[in-house]
Amino acid sequence: MDHENATHQGSCYCGAVKVTVSGPPLAAGYCHCLECRKWHSAPINAFAIWPAGKVTLEGDTMASAVSEDSARVSCRQCGGCVANRKPTMDITGVYPMTLAGPANTFHFEPAFHIFYEERVMNVNDGLPKYVDLPEMFGGSGRTVHESQNTGWRSTERAG
Ligand SMILES: [Zn+2]
Ligand SMILES: [Zn+2]
Repeated sequence: MDHENATHQGSCYCGAVKVTVSGPPLAAGYCHCLECRKWHSAPINAFAIWPAGKVTLEGDTMASAVSEDSARVSCRQCGGCVANRKPTMDITGVYPMTLAGPANTFHFEPAFHIFYEERVMNVNDGLPKYVDLPEMFGGSGRTVHESQNTGWRSTERAG
């Protein structure tokens, strides 16, 4: 577990936007929702959430808000994804791979999968797999049994 006051720094793809987080995240895991898959153009998205006041973004960013409670922030120069602001919950998601690199000091410790019902990939890692969100984040708290296999989800759609 991170030290209470430890800070970790990262940047976007081109380096123009600096990301600084302070202290340990409130939660970290993988998201399988359609919005994340569209925005990152990736089958699974790794996330970590901090209180909004613990995340600092420096540089020329732009926010792509699709709803009042979510604004995805990217670098205006390279388009690299850096954060997801959730103003109604006063939290900010930072993509842990933003903090990756030779000087990375942040240790990503995924605890669960969210929106697993929407997945395009099965993951067999033993972590809890929530249909939507854990109850502490306003979800149903229901989980899905994981498949024996990791890999692209076939045409089966049953939970
Ligand atoms: Zn950039
Ligand atoms: Zn998502």
